[in-house]
Amino acid sequence: MDDRTFRNAMGKFATGVTVITTDVEGEAHGMTANAFMSLSLNPRLVLISIGEKAKMLDRINESGKFAVNILSEEQQEVSMLFAGQIKEERLAEFDHLNEVSVVKDALVNIVCRVYGKQVAGDHTIFIGEVEDIILREGTPLTFFEGKYGKIVERQVT
Ligand code: FAD
Repeated sequence: MDDRTFRNAMGKFATGVTVITTDVEGEAHGMTANAFMSLSLNPRLVLISIGEKAKMLDRINESGKFAVNILSEEQQEVSMLFAGQIKEERLAEFDHLNEVSVVKDALVNIVCRVYGKQVAGDHTIFIGEVEDIILREGTPLTFFEGKYGKIVERQVT
């Protein structure tokens, strides 16, 4: 199996899109990520995975805290900004929750303290213990086969 096959296979797993945020010396930093999952109810834990080349890695190691911001379908540009896909400089809009910068108007803001971490290949898995959550109405931005999308029809059962 080559890398392309592996990437294509992983791209078949449809996900939402998050922006991970953290603050170091009063400066907010954001990074788009779809490697996110809910991990445990008791205690309340979530998991994210950060690449070894991402600046976010050192920043979370330093701050010991991060937020996961689940983006709404109106926030594709926010995802592109924090993935480095928009070349011109833009100001990002943040709110604050438990002294952590969070993405304004995201579907969900989840603030965590680092509970544990594990280096795995070229990524580091961070486990976060959830300290606070803000929920808003709306529908999520999605990511499938390397492309953004949205939910067009919701089946009610
Ligand atoms: P940078 O590349 O420096 O920052 C990212 C961008 O955010 C830059 O353009 C920067 O200008 C902007 N930015 C950051 N903070 C601010 C601020 N305060 N104000 C204004 N702009 C700011 N990588 C992973 O490691 N794990 C994943 O799960 C993952 N999932 C992804 C999912 C999707 C859908 C996409 C598109 C990318 C994903 N990536 C993931 C890749 C990751 O988003 C990029 O590699 C990113 O550029 C790495 O960010 P960085 O921390 O190195 O910082």
